[in-house]
Amino acid sequence: MTTVPEYFGSMVFDDRVMRSTLSAEVYASLRKTIDEGSELDISVANAVARAMKDWAVSLGATHFTHWFQPLTGITAEKHDSFISPSPDGSVIMEFSGKELIQGEPDASSFPSGGLRATFEARGYTAWDPTSYAFIKGRTLCIPTAFCSYGGHALDKKTPLLRSMEVLSKQALRILRLFGNDTAKRVVSSVGPEQEYFLITKEMYDRRPDLRFTGRTLFGAKPPKGQELDDHYFGVIKPGVAAFMEDLNDELWKLGILAKTEHNEVAPAQHELAPIYSTTNIATDHNQLTMEIMQKVAAKHGLVCLLHEKPFAGVNGSGKHNNWSIATDGGQNLLSPGETPYENAQFLLFLCAVIKAVDDYQDLLRLSVATAGNDHRLGANEAPPAVISMFLGDELNAVLEAIETDTPYKGTKKTQMKLGVDVLPKFNRDTTDRNRTSPFAFTGNKFEFRMLGSSNSIACANMMLNSAVAESLRIYADRLEAAEDFETALHEMIQKTIKDHKRIIFNGNGYDETWIQEATEKRGLLNYRTTADCMPHLLDEKNVTMLTSLGVFTEAELQSRRDIMLENYCKSVLIEANTMVDMARTQIAPAIEAYAAHVADSATGKKALAPELKCSYETGLVTKLSVLIDEIWAKADELDSALLKINDAEDIVEESAMIRDTLLPVMGELRVPCDEAEQLTARSYWPFPTYGDLLFGVK
Ligand code: ADP
Ligand code: MG
Repeated sequence: MTTVPEYFGSMVFDDRVMRSTLSAEVYASLRKTIDEGSELDISVANAVARAMKDWAVSLGATHFTHWFQPLTGITAEKHDSFISPSPDGSVIMEFSGKELIQGEPDASSFPSGGLRATFEARGYTAWDPTSYAFIKGRTLCIPTAFCSYGGHALDKKTPLLRSMEVLSKQALRILRLFGNDTAKRVVSSVGPEQEYFLITKEMYDRRPDLRFTGRTLFGAKPPKGQELDDHYFGVIKPGVAAFMEDLNDELWKLGILAKTEHNEVAPAQHELAPIYSTTNIATDHNQLTMEIMQKVAAKHGLVCLLHEKPFAGVNGSGKHNNWSIATDGGQNLLSPGETPYENAQFLLFLCAVIKAVDDYQDLLRLSVATAGNDHRLGANEAPPAVISMFLGDELNAVLEAIETDTPYKGTKKTQMKLGVDVLPKFNRDTTDRNRTSPFAFTGNKFEFRMLGSSNSIACANMMLNSAVAESLRIYADRLEAAEDFETALHEMIQKTIKDHKRIIFNGNGYDETWIQEATEKRGLLNYRTTADCMPHLLDEKNVTMLTSLGVFTEAELQSRRDIMLENYCKSVLIEANTMVDMARTQIAPAIEAYAAHVADSATGKKALAPELKCSYETGLVTKLSVLIDEIWAKADELDSALLKINDAEDIVEESAMIRDTLLPVMGELRVPCDEAEQLTARSYWPFPTYGDLLFGVK
C-alpha cells in the first residue's frame, strides 16, 4: 500500500515536477514569473507546455482545458485533446506554449452583464502560473483567468488576483515605515472550513425540489432533529467514513491539504477543513473540493448538498474564511509581537482591518449574498446579517486603554503609549469561543463566518483584501508625510479606535437585542437579503475605492451587480415554479387520494355497522380537504405572483419584487403542505420525509 506522502500531489504539476522536468534555465525563468509576476517568454512557455504535456500524458491524460471561474459561481472547462495528425495517418500528442498561455473558449453563454456584446462572443482565458496545473480524470487542467476582449474581467479570479496585488503593495509601504527593507511581497492566506450535508442518492432522486433547487421546499419537522446535539463531533457512520476516506485520497492526489473532518451540529451534516494556503490557491482548491465532494459522493450512492439551507428548521451550511496576511518571509502581520515596536505594527494592521470592516460593511455583506445564504444569516445558527467584529476581552481592553489614554491594567501603571509598552501576552484559547460573531479575531487571524457553503471564497476575499488595502493606503499616506512618526502613529491608531469602535461587539450576536442596538444605537447596516445589499455595490464610496485601487473598473462593477442579482432572481424563480408544480401535481393529489381512502373506509364501515359515527374519518377528511383547498389557493396566488414579476422594469426592481411578493407567498404555500404531511399516511406521501433524508445514510 502506498503511503500518503507518496501519492500526495501526484496529479499536480508542482514545484517538484517542474524542477525535475524543466531545464535549469526554464525552471528559473518560470519560478521568477510565479514568485514575482514577471513576464513569461514564449520560448519558456513552449518548454513548459511540452514538459506539462509529457507529464500529463504519462499519467493517462488525453485532453487539456483552461479551467476558470465564471460568474455563475461554479468552474468551467472546455476540453481539447492533445492529438495532432501525422502524415502517415497516426497521431502525435501536442501542446504549445501559446495554447498554455491563452485560450479562447466560446464563452458567449457565460454571464457578462452587458460587458461583452453578443457579436463579440469570445472572451479569452489567461494562464495563472501561480496556481499549479493538475490532472482531473483524463484532463490536464490549467488554472486561468477569464476576460473579455476589451480586457474586462468576466470571472472571480481576476479581481481576486488584483486585490492580492494592491494589498501587498500598500502593506509593503507600511512595513517600510517600520524599517522592514527585506520583504518583497505581502501575501494573504485563507483556510476555508467547508460544511456540507450527505444524503442517499436514492432519496435525493425522489425529491424534485432537491434536484432542481438544491434545497427542500417542503417538509415537516421530523420527530427528532438536532435537539440532542448528539451529532456534533459524534462518531462518524461507516458510509460517511468510507466517503471521507475516498474524498481525502482524491484531494490529496490533487495537492489539497485536507486536514480536519468531523460531524457538524445537524444530523447528516459534516465539515472538512484544509490547512490554509495563499488566497488564490485556496480559492482554486475550495472550488475543486466542492466539485470532488460531489463526484466522490456519487460513487458512494450519496449526494453531497452544498446549499446553504437544505432543510428548514435544521442548521444550514456555511464556510468559515480564516484569513491572515504575512510577509514572503513568513511573518504573520496579525500576530502580536515580542517587542513594543512589533506590537505597534500589529496594532496598526489590526486597526486597518477594524476600519476596513466598518467602512465597507456593505461590501462584505454583499460578497456573501446569494438566495441560499439569505435563509441562513440571522436564523440563529449563523451570524446575523449585521456585521460586527469580535476581538476578545483582552485585546478590547488594550484598545480601550489606548483610546482613553488610561493605564491598561495588564501592564505597569503607565499609559498605553505605543512604542513604549509591550502588549500583554494573550492566551489564544481565550480569544475565540464566541461562535456568534460574523468576524472574529482568533489570535493570529480573522475568521469571517458569513460565507455560505456554496459561495466561492473569491468574492469575500477580494472585498476584504481591497478594503484593508484602502485602510493601509490612507495610513501610509499620512505616516509617510508625518514629521514625528511615533506621534502620528499613536494618533492614528487612537483615532481609528474612536471612529470605528462601533463595529466591535463581544456579546452574543444571535441575540435580538443586539440587532436593535446595532442598528438603532450604533448605526450599523442590516441588509437582510441579497436584494437589499447588492445594489449598494454601486454606491459612490464603493465604486471610488474599488476603482481607485484598480481592483475593478466601473463597468465591471455594474456588470457584477447585474449578474449577482440575476443569479438571485433566477434561483428564486426556479424555486417558486418547482413549488407550484410539486404542490399541484404531487402533494395535492397524494392528500386527495388519502382523504378518498379514509372516506371510502368510513362508508364501508357504516355499511357494515350503521350505528358507527366514524368521527375520526369525518374529522380527518374535513381537515385534509380544508388543507387541499388552501394549498390550491396558495399555488394559484404564487402563480399570479410569478406572472407579475414579468412587469419589472429592471433587475433591481425584479429582485425587490421577488423579495416582497414571491418569497412570502412561497412561505405561505409551504405551511398547509407541511401540515398535511403530518396527517397523511406515510405510504401515500410522494417523497421521502425529513426524517428519511436526515437519518438515511448508514
Ligand atoms: P478552529 O478553532 O476554527 O477549528 P483551526 O485552528 O482548526 O480553528 O483552524 C481553522 C482553519 O484556519 C484551518 O483551515 C487552518 O488551516 C486555518 N488557519 C490557521 N492559521 C491560519 C492563518 N494564520 N491564516 C489563515 N488561516 C489559518
Ligand atoms: Mg472555525
